[in-house]
Amino acid sequence: MSIKVLSEQLASQIAAGEVVERPSSVVKELIENALDAGATKINITIRGGGRDLIQVADNGTGIPAAEIETAFQRHATSKLSTAEDLAAISTLGFRGEALAAIAAVSRLTVVSRTAEDQAGTRLELEGGVKTGREMVGAPEGTVVAVENLFFNTPARLKFLKSITTERRLIDEYVTRYALANTEVRFRLTHENRVTFQTTGNGNIQEVLGEIHDVETARQLLSVDSTRETPEPVSGERREIAVHGFVGPPGLNWANRSRITLFVNGRWIKDSSLTYAVIQAYHTLLPTGRYPLGLIFIQMPVEGVDVNVHPAKTEVRFQRPNAVFGAVQRAVRETLIAESPVPTISAWSMESSGHSPWSTPAHGQGFARLNTPDQGALGLDWSRRRSPNELPVPADEENAVATAGSQENSKPGQKLPIMRVIGQVGQAYIITEGPDGLYLIDQHAAHERILFEKFMAEWENHAVASQGLVAPVTVTLSPSQAGLVESNLDTFRNLGFAVEAFGPNTFQIRAIPAVVGKIDPGKALLSVVEDLEQGDAPLQGKIEARIVLRVCKSAAVKAGQTLTTAEMEALIQQLEASQNPHTCPHGRPTMIHLSAGQLAREFGRT
Ligand code: ADP
Ligand code: MG
Repeated sequence: MSIKVLSEQLASQIAAGEVVERPSSVVKELIENALDAGATKINITIRGGGRDLIQVADNGTGIPAAEIETAFQRHATSKLSTAEDLAAISTLGFRGEALAAIAAVSRLTVVSRTAEDQAGTRLELEGGVKTGREMVGAPEGTVVAVENLFFNTPARLKFLKSITTERRLIDEYVTRYALANTEVRFRLTHENRVTFQTTGNGNIQEVLGEIHDVETARQLLSVDSTRETPEPVSGERREIAVHGFVGPPGLNWANRSRITLFVNGRWIKDSSLTYAVIQAYHTLLPTGRYPLGLIFIQMPVEGVDVNVHPAKTEVRFQRPNAVFGAVQRAVRETLIAESPVPTISAWSMESSGHSPWSTPAHGQGFARLNTPDQGALGLDWSRRRSPNELPVPADEENAVATAGSQENSKPGQKLPIMRVIGQVGQAYIITEGPDGLYLIDQHAAHERILFEKFMAEWENHAVASQGLVAPVTVTLSPSQAGLVESNLDTFRNLGFAVEAFGPNTFQIRAIPAVVGKIDPGKALLSVVEDLEQGDAPLQGKIEARIVLRVCKSAAVKAGQTLTTAEMEALIQQLEASQNPHTCPHGRPTMIHLSAGQLAREFGRT
């Protein structure tokens, strides 16, 4: 093939790819334009997760009628004119690419009017080509409606995720901008339903209350610290101010997705600064758990280069270490000043607060220390013995006899019959088998048991449900609510009776019987957390993941004292499992010390 210059149309489509990756990128760019135009009201209307319609209406300055075509040309911007401007950008946009890029891959209509213009202008474009223009009556401001996104780039269309995923990503952008712009009234509508709105009264706590539940919002600790940079930026000694909110250590998650960063009002992705927040919690959080952080960094615009990528979410700092230090210190100081630091050793990995969105009834105070919760393990006693034979705890001989009597009724077992000796560290059960000693991880073992039972019921389409005496209401973030809503059938198949119960609120009326006693709100939340991390996998996989997650929350935790009877029930059920040697996540459930090993260790052989 000979070398040719690409047609303008094709070149725009290629360039558009970097700016408009998916529906949420369109939402982001249009909101940024509205904010740059000084809007105080921004209404976002979405249909079909953004594939069918994305409309952003603002009451900003508007685009002058004479310039409206120009706004849709590539590299056309009113925010930048000289190379020096590029070094000190205070607007969210500056590359002049977004409108051209969005128009290139959609059917776009814009209606805009400035205060000076007598009438509004309506412009229509299809694949970036103008198809209509007229004068219309319109209020001051701009409405951009994007329909049939990617209609002319089928490859892009194919790569879009499910409507739920796209919707969640859109929700995330809208909530981020609402947090960074509390003076602006945001309203987000999905399929004709308002799912999120703010008042624009400048009260960030109120916005937080819209995003998180009241209880979580109430627990957040405020960060407010003004730091001097150790070295002058641009010859002058200037400040890096850090403010925002962080969660107490008792609120923590399995991933970093609750750490949100802004620099000069711009949401940024920055793994180093995310780490600065995490590091501030050093020793306050169990390993593998991450805090909530909402961090606003204000600094001289010259000290940060925002022109790194067309999406403008990555930045380069002139003094990265100074920014890192400022964030880390600000967060650490807040934690030390505001939170009574608990005795870490008493924390149990598994029981430290999840359930960030739960209602006050299920809310937890900060630093929930683990308390033994005996008898609430949801162990299936029925499989053990008939009820009138119920346990005679602490009587080891009796236990052995009972275990022995069941020997014949368990063909195909993969574990030998074991005798429970006791519990160590409130985490491990010691047993004796025909060939030595076993140390069994109580949580992993219980998880395995519940998982096999649950999966068996599900595969047989026979998941038993157990009604709750008192239904539990859970309030979720808008994006989480969307996830639950789109998976209601799945939840039903898995024995959960979950119903919508007001905006972003659900009521749980029944839970799968197999898991026994659990905190239903917490279990639902951990499932949602888990789903949030994944990208709409196959339905079958979702169900398996939910089962996995529910079993994890239902399983007895490390740190719980078990009675002998409870340990025996657990061991017997483990003996009956298909794969007793690992938990459903693949970690070992037990360590075996054979009689031979013991003899060797003691120098008997
Ligand atoms: P950029 O934001 O980088 O300048 P865009 O392609 O997003 O580039 O927008 C091009 C220009 O169109 C902007 O510089 C601005 O002058 C104008 N514009 C876009 N959206 C709006 C809006 N909602 N209100 C007023 N002017 C707008
Ligand atoms: Mg822009």
